[in-house]
Amino acid sequence: MSSPRITSPDSPALATLCAQLAARADAADLSGAWPAEQLRLCGEAGVYEWFLPVEYGGQDWSDLDVVRGYLALAAADLTTTFIITQRTGACRRVASGENEELKQRVLPALATADNFATVGISHLTTSHRHLGKPVLTATRTAAGYVLDGFSPWVTGGDHAGCILVGAVVVDGDVVTDEQILAFVPTSDPGVRADMPAKLVAVSHSHTGRVQFDSVLVSDEWIVAGPVANVMMAGRASRPGGHETSTLAIGLASAALDFLKQEAAKREELRPAHEALAAEHAEVVSDLLAIAEGNAVCSSESLRQRANSLVLRSTQAALAAAKGAGYVAGHPVGRWCREALFFLVWSCPQPVMNANLCELAGLGMVSDG
Ligand SMILES: Cc1cc2nc3c(=O)[nH]c(=O)nc-3n(C[C@H](O)[C@H](O)[C@H](O)COP(=O)(O)OP(=O)(O)OC[C@H]3O[C@@H](n4cnc5c(N)ncnc54)[C@H](O)[C@@H]3O)c2cc1C
Repeated sequence: MSSPRITSPDSPALATLCAQLAARADAADLSGAWPAEQLRLCGEAGVYEWFLPVEYGGQDWSDLDVVRGYLALAAADLTTTFIITQRTGACRRVASGENEELKQRVLPALATADNFATVGISHLTTSHRHLGKPVLTATRTAAGYVLDGFSPWVTGGDHAGCILVGAVVVDGDVVTDEQILAFVPTSDPGVRADMPAKLVAVSHSHTGRVQFDSVLVSDEWIVAGPVANVMMAGRASRPGGHETSTLAIGLASAALDFLKQEAAKREELRPAHEALAAEHAEVVSDLLAIAEGNAVCSSESLRQRANSLVLRSTQAALAAAKGAGYVAGHPVGRWCREALFFLVWSCPQPVMNANLCELAGLGMVSDG
């Protein structure tokens, strides 16, 4: 069955696509197979166009519309939506980068499902940072940069045509404070995706390490840098921004919809559903305000509340589903496992600290 095109978050076609994704989500989780059909349906429905400027074949949705679209997709199928965020991350970095020729060359092809790109940047922000030496280095040569090392977490690395990867510039043994972002074709000699990791959830995102063994990247593939803090270059959304919170809030709404259906039949569930639904409405309202440009709270505070809400909502749904929900293949068990992902995905230190405080019963840290 084909998907009608989605041109706004109010489009009925979005609900149609979400129903198609939700119907496949449990089987995809159990199988661990890459969700090729789900990604094809999203491409056919025009989802990849939401995030791209019109000049590259995109629909250039506003931040608010993107948030509304992501909320619906994440409630239907978190893993496919997460994969789309990584794909979008790569596209947005290229689109906000300095290489005009690269934009013209690669972005129009990324408006469709025929091409998949992804990101490997966490080692510049939230992963392997305590080791004191970079895990992926770039050495300047006359022909371009030579990449050596690995990117520890790359979603869909074994299915990507190109990976937007970050590396720290070195000069011999000297580590400089400069970094580059490059859009590296996976067909380049020396690029190798390891077997994807088996994960607590979202395993079918095929996330794993990608090795770069003396990979020569010519200047035509450089997106940004060399510069200090290359992740701050351009206008692409930063890790820990409201995209991660949006997906957490979307997943929470799936759990709360389930709880609502159960509460309609079981009086004793109503107070819990009402309290969580009221909290969800408040968080959604703040998220939409931020997406409209009103800084009603910091992105860290929003993320902390979204993390807390998704963990409690999914576990409340499991408690309501009882033992039946604990059987593999029931969506609430999957939602609980998926919610744990938000404790580790692109989680900046202040958010992690706040999550730990809450888990330790030390109370929620307020937005200061
Ligand atoms: C399913 C999944 C998909 C992801 N997809 C992507 C993606 O597509 N692209 C991308 O760029 N990133 C991706 N990430 C990375 C993610 O955003 C985070 O960067 C990652 O989860 C951080 O975890 P880490 O284990 O690498 O952190 P690390 O900080 O490297 O921690 C690893 C271990 O090191 C030790 N350690 C940590 N800090 C210290 C310290 N200060 N002192 C001593 N020991 C320490 C601990 O034992 C810890 O378990 C993904 C992550 C997951 C889980």
